[in-house]
Amino acid sequence: MTIPDLTARGAGVAPGLPVSDPGLPVSAPGLPTSAAEPPTTAAPGAGSLPQLQPPGFSPESARQDIPILHRTVNGHPLVWLDNGATTQKPRQVIEALGAFYGTANSNIHRGAHTMAREATQMYEAGRAAVAGFLGAGSPDDIVFVRGTTEAINLVAQSWGRANLGPGDDILVAVLEHHSDIVPWQLIAKETRARVVPIPLTPEGAIDQDAYADLLSSRTQLVAVSHASNVLGTVPPVKEMTALAHRYGAKVLVDGAQAVAHFPVDVTDLDADFYAFSGHKLFAPTGIGALYAKPEILESMGPWQGGGNMIESVDFTRTTFAPVPHLLEAGTGHISGVVGLLAALNWFTSFDRNSVAAYETSLMTYAQQALSTVPGLDVLGSAPERIAVLTFTLAGHDPAGIADWLDRDGIAIRAGHHCAQPALAHYGLESAARASLALYNTSEEVDQLVASLRRLQEAPETAG
Ligand code: PMP
Repeated sequence: MTIPDLTARGAGVAPGLPVSDPGLPVSAPGLPTSAAEPPTTAAPGAGSLPQLQPPGFSPESARQDIPILHRTVNGHPLVWLDNGATTQKPRQVIEALGAFYGTANSNIHRGAHTMAREATQMYEAGRAAVAGFLGAGSPDDIVFVRGTTEAINLVAQSWGRANLGPGDDILVAVLEHHSDIVPWQLIAKETRARVVPIPLTPEGAIDQDAYADLLSSRTQLVAVSHASNVLGTVPPVKEMTALAHRYGAKVLVDGAQAVAHFPVDVTDLDADFYAFSGHKLFAPTGIGALYAKPEILESMGPWQGGGNMIESVDFTRTTFAPVPHLLEAGTGHISGVVGLLAALNWFTSFDRNSVAAYETSLMTYAQQALSTVPGLDVLGSAPERIAVLTFTLAGHDPAGIADWLDRDGIAIRAGHHCAQPALAHYGLESAARASLALYNTSEEVDQLVASLRRLQEAPETAG
């Protein structure tokens, strides 16, 4: 059987499938139809900044694939600096979704016909691609979920319920996203375990001495992000995992902000669980993955019941399917997996180390450029970090900053970023955040900085 390849980079659709009219919004009323180049004027005061050295990767090679980056917002070319919230999608992903629904739609694992078999093969090809992307040993180590939040809830409800008890500790870093705090609080309450925060240093790194002191034979689980969505911090997850394992604790790594920024290898990390969301990796919303070590996955019981996860159902005795299907009750997000596969094919067609080096140089450029804005403070200065720049601007509340930038077509996020303990560490309830991706450019950083400088010069017009 031949699986229609809906996802090849450059092709975007299977041979023989229609390539026209993939349903892109670029021709919708109010949206531009041509690629508008952003202005190249440097921000005032940014003239003395070092030029970005292109280390073997050009953001244009990614930009040309992403239709939405060529629209305008409020009369200005879009500057998308809200990648921490979600990433924009290459046409290869958009077209793969159209091609799937246009030519290949079927439920999986249950139809005795050609298209059901084809859809099943595509779905399982997606699983294999995720396993390869994460460095997992086998596709069977991958569970499809809605996203990072669902992955962590799954671990808490399945593994946590069976393995946590009174007196047990769950160590959770203070920089975690709420989705890596609240599921632990919920299961801790039920099992009478404790959630223990691992403090941060003033720079926003995880305090490694405090972490070592907190670990004990009571520690059952350590929950840590591979990259913080608010401070950009990249903790030493491999070393933290090795230390946790000495106490027999398992380690869950929240990779939501990591996977789009640097290569990840769960085998090298020796992580017990690793979670990510497709939509932060150029794929559709509603699809993500959980990796778990095979021996741990094998030991896990169901957390939701329904179709797909059983072998046979009887009112006296129900038997279950093996993992990973055991943990995937109901019809999965089949088109989401097709889109995720397309996104992985697209993203991995770039040299990942060059992408990471480019983003690091862009971040350094952005840090220096932002430091020229009077009254601007960037939160967090951990030595290892991704290009997430959360900041405050004297005299302006974060919502007002975001509103001002939006008028210039610049999208950032303002608020608590679902990481209230991390902000509280700096005595804040909210902040503004610019988060960069491989398709952002130094010209876009210049536009951000220029707009912020204008805001400082005209404070009375800010919201
Ligand atoms: N963890 C981190 C570090 C995140 O940044 C996010 C999303 N902002 C999540 C978890 C939750 O991801 P999702 O909403 O896609 O489940």
